Amino acid sequence: MALIVQKYGGTSVGNPERIRNCARRILETQRAGNQVVAVVSAMSGVTDTLIKLAKEVSPEREPVEREMDVLLATGEQTTIALTAMAINALGGKAVSLTGAQAGISTDGVHTKARIVNITPDAVKKMLDEGNIVMLAGFQGKTASGEITTLGRGGSDLTAIAMAAAIKADLCQIYTDVDGVYTCDPRVVKSAQKIPEISYEEMLEMASSGSKVMQSRSVEFANKFGVRFEVRNSMNHNPGTIVKEESPGMESVVVRGVSLERNQAKVTIDDVADRPGISAAIFGAIATANITIDMIVQNVSFDGITDISFTLSAADLAKAETALKAVLPGLGDKAQLRTQSSIAKVSVVGIGMRSHSGVAAKMFKALADAKINIQMISTSEIKTAVIVDEAEVENAARVVHTAFGLDA
Ligand code: ASP
Ligand code: MG
Repeated sequence: MALIVQKYGGTSVGNPERIRNCARRILETQRAGNQVVAVVSAMSGVTDTLIKLAKEVSPEREPVEREMDVLLATGEQTTIALTAMAINALGGKAVSLTGAQAGISTDGVHTKARIVNITPDAVKKMLDEGNIVMLAGFQGKTASGEITTLGRGGSDLTAIAMAAAIKADLCQIYTDVDGVYTCDPRVVKSAQKIPEISYEEMLEMASSGSKVMQSRSVEFANKFGVRFEVRNSMNHNPGTIVKEESPGMESVVVRGVSLERNQAKVTIDDVADRPGISAAIFGAIATANITIDMIVQNVSFDGITDISFTLSAADLAKAETALKAVLPGLGDKAQLRTQSSIAKVSVVGIGMRSHSGVAAKMFKALADAKINIQMISTSEIKTAVIVDEAEVENAARVVHTAFGLDA
């Protein structure tokens, strides 16, 4: 008998028929002789609708975050009850537990709380009594009993953390795709499902645009060594196993190509090349709560240099406002330029650590396709370039082919 944690995302429980589909699968898993804890998200669209409602009743000010959590936790509370009912209707025995009831304790940072510990006594007791435990994703409680939520996509974290806490034999993340692909299959028709990927590669793919799971949950899995599998809730195909790095994994140089659209570039030309300039620029950006990605500073000439960085296009207007305020202090000739409609293409693989020539191969493929590279950045296991938005799909395809990833 194995102890299995399954997680079903919002699309997988998006309507009554789909909830019954999940109920059947959960029940089959138990009937095959296992104990099952099934974590569910809110039905797709529900969390967004709740956020919209909150804004509508509180147009004058941001709703109080404590109340946001009380509100948002109801999305998952709905699906645990409905799925438990569906399982019971099919002749199974299920009980639902909210995050608080399941002993998930968090800090008090409402809407993005961190799990501090899990006391899974209630979960274990219910499993031992022969129940399927339907566990609400995305939520917990503080030491003083306040309801908290774990940040968008937080049901993944609930599943991974509960799997660690009860030392599950298996953790399966069910979603609406068959696993993690070498590239977005809608863009690259020849993209293939990746059978195994390391935590680090999974994180880099996610931060470069291939988001299958909440990044925090992958970080957590890495820290606590929770192996998991990403699978499709609509079929029985094997998925992608995400696990610690193994020696054989390094022989594949590039695991995947990811693309991220809706990026923008900010350039400040002719800034003075003296201490404190970068601090002033990025201090203003940080104060405005804007996350940036690549930063490039030119070699200075005559005491003057250029600095460029990229960010999400949605933050561009905010960044311009923040920078205009500090521009006069950046040098007499400093000028601000912005460009939207750019996109990022990244190649990711732990094999890059031990293989050379990855950047050269990527740039050659782009050059052969006459695609101009506007910016470049690298990490130990990633090489990323910025290209014109109109060329991003073609860029992804030629790079995918160059690294032999086509099926
Ligand atoms: N319902 C939450 C969200 O939409 C959590 C989740 O689905 O994982 O972000
Ligand atoms: Mg999700």
